[in-house]
Amino acid sequence: MKAYQVIENGKPLEERILETPEAKGREVVLKTVACGVCHSDVHIHDGYFELGGGVQLPSPLPGGEPLTMGHEIFGEVAAIGEEVEGINIGERYVAYPWMGCGDCDLCDDDMTHYCANNSNLGIHVGGGYGDHVLVPDQKYLFHAADTPDSLAGSYACRGLTAYSALKKAGPYKKDNSLVIVSAGGLGVLALKIAQAAYGINPIVVDIDDEKLGMARQLGASATINSSEEGAAEKLMELTEGGARSIVDFVGAEASVNFGYNLLARGGSYVIVGLFGGQISLPLPLQALTEKKLMGSYVGSLGDMAELMELVVAGKIDPVAVETRDVSEANNTLLEMKEGKLLGLVALTHDQ
Ligand SMILES: [Zn+2]
Ligand SMILES: [Zn+2]
Repeated sequence: MKAYQVIENGKPLEERILETPEAKGREVVLKTVACGVCHSDVHIHDGYFELGGGVQLPSPLPGGEPLTMGHEIFGEVAAIGEEVEGINIGERYVAYPWMGCGDCDLCDDDMTHYCANNSNLGIHVGGGYGDHVLVPDQKYLFHAADTPDSLAGSYACRGLTAYSALKKAGPYKKDNSLVIVSAGGLGVLALKIAQAAYGINPIVVDIDDEKLGMARQLGASATINSSEEGAAEKLMELTEGGARSIVDFVGAEASVNFGYNLLARGGSYVIVGLFGGQISLPLPLQALTEKKLMGSYVGSLGDMAELMELVVAGKIDPVAVETRDVSEANNTLLEMKEGKLLGLVALTHDQ
């Protein structure tokens, strides 16, 4: 099999020929059809996350070994283990990539994504920048019905992340009860999921007018450019005195400082994005306003099942995805790092 691998953090990915995996037990080998390029790929490739104040959280290559990234995998079944049931060669599935050890309390409680010994596809073990992926258990596979090939894999990370974060920040009674920060790929997926799961058209905040225009086309009830003067007043007005729920897919000092102060009493602020930085909060106000500040990291296998039920039922409008050949992985990562990508990009392999 062929894979584009990170050999050294920050250096261009290299094309390598590897042994094609075989399936045993409950394992399934997928031949990659398309794999979304997620912003966390940029951090995995760089080898660190920015924590602010010049501090970095390292994310070194597992075991210092070359890594085939790509955790938004949609593929065709190429091989199945002898214990696999109900899954057949040639069928196409999305793979849930957030694998746990399968043997701890967290894994037992549908929190494999929190497991300390996880082996996530495309992060710890080979992913969809390779033309074959070994999925360790058939329970991680989901149908995507007639979802476009290029979009399906993105439900396993960005879609799931959006779904799980929205679940934490609810309930939502009307359009202005939810503010989504980011009109990028994740933000527009969240917009579509909010429409499908909660029947609301949220407010979208970003600093890029072109991206905000796209969010309005996709049904955002209002958009705000937070870098413009009067943005805070506009948000207060639109939310009738403060936001009930803000889901922040940027997670930068500037976005959190902007949004957290505009939260209504008892409101929820969910940080999803990993842009980086630090904030300081006056603690008495935290008590007096009962604001909730929390994080959200991908989503559980149970969340994935709920999300894919909405997808299969055709309730989520597909967003457009640009496809590129996997050989364009390097410039795609660079463009994503520089914030130049409008919407989602998926890498495809020669079929
Ligand atoms: Zn991701
Ligand atoms: Zn575990």
